[in-house]
Amino acid sequence: MSPKENGATSQDRHAGDVKRPSGREKVPVMATAAAPATQEDAQLKMRARELTVRYSEKVAIQNVTIDVYAKQVLALIGPSGCGKSTFLRSLNRMNDTVPGVSVSGYVELDSEPIYGPMVDPVLVRRRVGMVFQKSNPFPKSIFENVAYGLRIAGVRERGVLAERVERALRHAALWEEVKDRLEESGLGLSGGQQQRLCIARALAVEPEVLLMDEPASALDPIATAKIEDLVSELRDDLTIVIVTHNMQQAARVSQRTGFFYMGRLVEVADTTTIFTRPRERETEDYITGRFG
Ligand code: ADP
Repeated sequence: MSPKENGATSQDRHAGDVKRPSGREKVPVMATAAAPATQEDAQLKMRARELTVRYSEKVAIQNVTIDVYAKQVLALIGPSGCGKSTFLRSLNRMNDTVPGVSVSGYVELDSEPIYGPMVDPVLVRRRVGMVFQKSNPFPKSIFENVAYGLRIAGVRERGVLAERVERALRHAALWEEVKDRLEESGLGLSGGQQQRLCIARALAVEPEVLLMDEPASALDPIATAKIEDLVSELRDDLTIVIVTHNMQQAARVSQRTGFFYMGRLVEVADTTTIFTRPRERETEDYITGRFG
């Protein structure tokens, strides 16, 4: 039996016996990334249980329970302000840096808690990397942007740095475009290249999980398509959780999708299910464009 996620087992949702009140409009059918036939073979990478995050008195997310499977893409969708980024940041303790934040419940990475007095958040963030909506290259060379995390991790030898930088740039599908100008500033790259540079920087320290917060929302369609292709390729090697306001994008790149609304995870299931026969009325209203 799959673990419970916000009240229903994923088996419940895969059973195809979702009852829908009559008269409800059909939800749009979208092309979705191939989803595994069952989650039973999928390996659990992270899990959150009853996770509540407050900023001072304000509750941003409440009682979120969700599983993240290894080598899959989990997309998080929902209207602005519903807590998607807050939840994403709680997966690598990025919220710790926000003044007045409090977190209850728990999050595990490979069955180990990531919150707790004995856990070093820096090590958590090395294993669970993050890419933001707005690309933020440092005012340094392309090489140094990618080498940054490696240097902090204590890698000094030039040959090792060069090899790891090349590997990360190849992994981020940027190597061919920059290999002859590694000493030029990262700020001279196009918007799409800068975002892939930030992805390379995150990949250089070889994280196991990559959190992506609307990574393509500031990019043109061609640059967006490159990021989406990249996400699909990266899934071979790592686990990805991506926040997106673009439902077609969620459908294209993810195997599972979670819908957030007003700080709650309304439902999570395989992406095809969410976009064709969601269990909850709120999800259906959102994906059919009735609100949000
Ligand atoms: P989403 O990613 O879905 O747009 P967020 O996680 O950014 O939602 O925000 C959830 C709620 O938490 C919103 O009401 C937002 O205003 C609030 N919030 C987010 N970040 C902070 C912060 N640093 N301090 C105070 N409130 C915040």
